[in-house]
Amino acid sequence: MKSFEFFAAKDSNHAVTLLAQHAANAKVKIIAGGTDLLADLKFAAHGPDVVVDISRADDLKNITMTEQGLNIGALVTHTQIMRSPLICQLFPALVDAAHTIGAVQTRNLGTLGGNLVTAVPSMDSGPTLMALEAIVTIAGNGGRRQVPLSEFFVGPRKTILKPDELLTEIIIPKQNVGKPTHFLKFGLRKGQALALVNVAASFWVDWEKNAFLAPRIALGAVAPKVIRAPQAEAYLEGRTITPEAMAEAGRVAVGDAKPISDFRASAEYRRHLVAVLTKRALEGAWALAQTRRLEGSNGKRNA
Ligand SMILES: Cc1cc2nc3c(=O)[nH]c(=O)nc-3n(C[C@H](O)[C@H](O)[C@H](O)COP(=O)(O)OP(=O)(O)OC[C@H]3O[C@@H](n4cnc5c(N)ncnc54)[C@H](O)[C@@H]3O)c2cc1C
Repeated sequence: MKSFEFFAAKDSNHAVTLLAQHAANAKVKIIAGGTDLLADLKFAAHGPDVVVDISRADDLKNITMTEQGLNIGALVTHTQIMRSPLICQLFPALVDAAHTIGAVQTRNLGTLGGNLVTAVPSMDSGPTLMALEAIVTIAGNGGRRQVPLSEFFVGPRKTILKPDELLTEIIIPKQNVGKPTHFLKFGLRKGQALALVNVAASFWVDWEKNAFLAPRIALGAVAPKVIRAPQAEAYLEGRTITPEAMAEAGRVAVGDAKPISDFRASAEYRRHLVAVLTKRALEGAWALAQTRRLEGSNGKRNA
């Protein structure tokens, strides 16, 4: 491993200051949980000159409900997501996604922010957040900006982050808080395996017409980045909820995916998985919507 200078940030503002000081003249890397970065550093021919450690920035470790929606700090770990009463109640799909990431040790250290910034197409937290139309906040020397998560990813391992910018929070907008959502991952093993395909589906229900409202489908590992499935979403919008409609949406979603063949699976097998997992993810969201309606809880679209 190449040697580098190391700075520990006290909080997110300090991290931004450190990035501003060093990013113009040196190759700078942020370290959060280190589960991705340390593996990269061991094998990188051109490692960073400076590493900024943000793991002590407690202001990035909160899960709170704000005026804007559910706000998850970038340093929240996958284990914290699984243990958050707020997330367990409102977004069990996020808990399911976190639970599929690596093993206990990886989930204890690995952060939501690190998972998104690594930006591998098979990442497990991306699809659910995309299906919930999450927004991310980015902090830099010039201030803070917010962008939809769908615009944050550029390609494999590429995001819109500039070298002096920090991802600070992930927000699920208020209008989607409690939206019935379901996540599914298919890997070569049940644990410690990257997704061959992962899918999340969300929709509100028009209970009078028994129809899909604002359906959102997000697919992982079938394109250079996590993508939405616009044709399948358009097919479902306003349509009566039936098993046939969900199966057909799965077939339509295949047309939205652009999988490649690699050593883990062929493109053809991945297309088959898209159809099956999309249908099952829709069924899962439908089951959750019905349960919530019976419980008299959040089955309706928020104002
Ligand atoms: C054994 C093992 C199994 C794994 N299994 C899975 C799996 O099943 N599914 C899955 O999705 N992932 C998996 N991962 C990947 C990894 O654990 C996750 O992506 C993790 O969430 C990364 O978070 P981190 O805090 O460790 O990131 P780090 O390693 O600290 O950082 C990762 C990258 O993000 C940048 N970064 C981190 N935080 C920020 C921030 N706030 N702002 C700007 N840049 C930032 C870093 O500079 C670096 O480039 C696995 C990893 C290991 C080692």
